[in-house]
Amino acid sequence: MSATVLDGKKIGRVIEEELNHRIINLQSKAIIPHLAVVIVGDDPASHVYVRNKEMACERCGIKSTRIDLEGDISEKEILDTVHMLNSDNSVHGILVQSPLPEGINESLVTDAISPQKDVDGFHKMNLGRLVQGDSSGLLPCTPAGIMKILESSDIDLSGKNALVIGRSRIVGMPMSILLAQRGIDATVTIAHSRTKNLQDICREADLVVAAIGRPEFVKSEWIKPGATVIDVGINRVKDSSRKSGYRLVGDVDSDASNVAGNITPVPGGVGPMTIAMLMSNTIMATENQSK
Ligand code: NDP
Repeated sequence: MSATVLDGKKIGRVIEEELNHRIINLQSKAIIPHLAVVIVGDDPASHVYVRNKEMACERCGIKSTRIDLEGDISEKEILDTVHMLNSDNSVHGILVQSPLPEGINESLVTDAISPQKDVDGFHKMNLGRLVQGDSSGLLPCTPAGIMKILESSDIDLSGKNALVIGRSRIVGMPMSILLAQRGIDATVTIAHSRTKNLQDICREADLVVAAIGRPEFVKSEWIKPGATVIDVGINRVKDSSRKSGYRLVGDVDSDASNVAGNITPVPGGVGPMTIAMLMSNTIMATENQSK
């Protein structure tokens, strides 16, 4: 049996196209949605992600401004940049690309962004609203994108066992809250580096979301036949046969597609959905600030 591939690129493009009439409506009021992206240092993967976000803005008709800061910049200078963008009325969304250089407190930077402009959905006010059961605000893009994949693929999770591997602030934790919310109603287990018998827990799961950051960590033998597998991981592994010298692999063994019922590819699964939800959050933020 070969799993159905959940095509994030295709679903993400539909989401982007659906934003079109809202963008036209804003333009008719002389409002141009505007996303500011701050990137600190020269991490090559971060530069690729930022470029992909800029290209999505171009596709959608969203203005993007990129602010490059030196890797040795102080925390205060990053915070000053965020404050400057907060007070710029022409900017509707602010994103500070992660990871920040060592020694910079990421939570401090995230919480300095105005919650109305927090298009990554990481501000404590936006995450707090989610914990209170309100998912109508600015949600973290990756978990929100995964929910869209599940919804548009008609995967019913009510009463099903969902396993989220990873408990990060940006992926694992908000993901588990979204899956457990009323109306979705999955029974959620959160696994992390201290979890015992992960393989056994995984074999019971109807849905596995792997957000670990370790190449092909989840083995195909751990997957329950017919389960849905969402592979969040983006890992670079050396590959001398490629011009780039590397290839991208997920957190799940590629053989899992022989066991799972549905699976997201890497690349082309969760990544494009994250970007589509960033575009969606930017439009929501623009609309909210234009009321
Ligand atoms: P973090 O490093 O913040 O979190 C990783 C999580 O995995 C932690 O909770 C950690 O547990 C857990 N973990 C580590 N080792 C194990 C183990 N042996 N068994 C079980 N759990 C383990 O990563 P992120 O959440 O930021 O990202 C995860 C992956 O997703 C990365 O590959 C990243 O590149 C990718 N990513 C992809 C995105 C996309 O758009 N496709 C967007 C964001 C991230 P503990 O808490 O105990 O340390």
